[in-house]
Amino acid sequence: MVRSLKLASKVAIVTGTGSGIGKATARRFAQEGASVVAVDINETGGQRVVAELQAEGWRVTFVSGDVARADDVRRAVEVAENAYGGLDIFFANAGIATFGTIEETSEEDWDRVVAVNLRSCYLAIRFAAPVMRRRGGGSIINTASVHAFLTAGGIGAYGATKHAVVGLTKAAAQELAADGIRVNAVCPGAVETPLMRSNLRWVGNEEEEYRKIARSAPLGRVGRPEEIAEIVLWLASDASSFATGAPFVVDGGLISRLP
Ligand code: NAD
Repeated sequence: MVRSLKLASKVAIVTGTGSGIGKATARRFAQEGASVVAVDINETGGQRVVAELQAEGWRVTFVSGDVARADDVRRAVEVAENAYGGLDIFFANAGIATFGTIEETSEEDWDRVVAVNLRSCYLAIRFAAPVMRRRGGGSIINTASVHAFLTAGGIGAYGATKHAVVGLTKAAAQELAADGIRVNAVCPGAVETPLMRSNLRWVGNEEEEYRKIARSAPLGRVGRPEEIAEIVLWLASDASSFATGAPFVVDGGLISRLP
């Protein structure tokens, strides 16, 4: 029996595809039949990943852009329409972390983390919704974090943006439900990516912190980007047709445990 592809004839935008969770999800979407517009601010790294995915035979187009800039997000949506005929899925994944207490955080760093982590999701909704509405529906997935529920001193700006991403997701889901557009948030725990490594280096001894965070999850390990891609695929696909306005935690049990 031939298995039907989960995203056959769908068009998706994935941001932050040059690395980590975005890269794994762009590949997973393409494997399931989607045409993918891959967005990254790192032109060299982003191009390299897209060339890799194209060499594997997937339909992927690269857009160099900053998710915090309206013009760049609008351009990504235009590329989806011009190259692939529309837009069904927007995975707003690109994000950054800043470290330091709230007092130590400069206004510049504060504004940048808010722009990349939160404004980006607002822009994704703003520019994707009209195109999806014309198509009769769609799925928008914002990337939050376990930092949307609990956070820590020293990473407060990041934690604040991730809490806000869940609030934005809930409001957008209500506004867009009548148009058949679902909006959800994925909330990963610790996942093996360069971003997680920079977090560990900031906290202290990287390897020691790695072991500590792995041990603190009931599953006893750090996640792989592919394990986040799997739930994002589910949220993107029609299999999750009754899910909207919700945060989906994928963290190996990390935040279920009392310290
Ligand atoms: P990563 O650093 O491995 O990859 C992020 C990618 O986004 C990079 O390719 C980077 O160039 C790109 N990027 C950064 N700023 C951008 C911008 N302004 N415009 C366009 N592209 C930009 O990170 P990751 O760990 O894969 O994280 C992806 C998302 O997952 C982030 O939103 C992050 O907050 C979230 N997250 C990660 C973890 C984790 O443990 N890795 C946990 C929870 C949530």
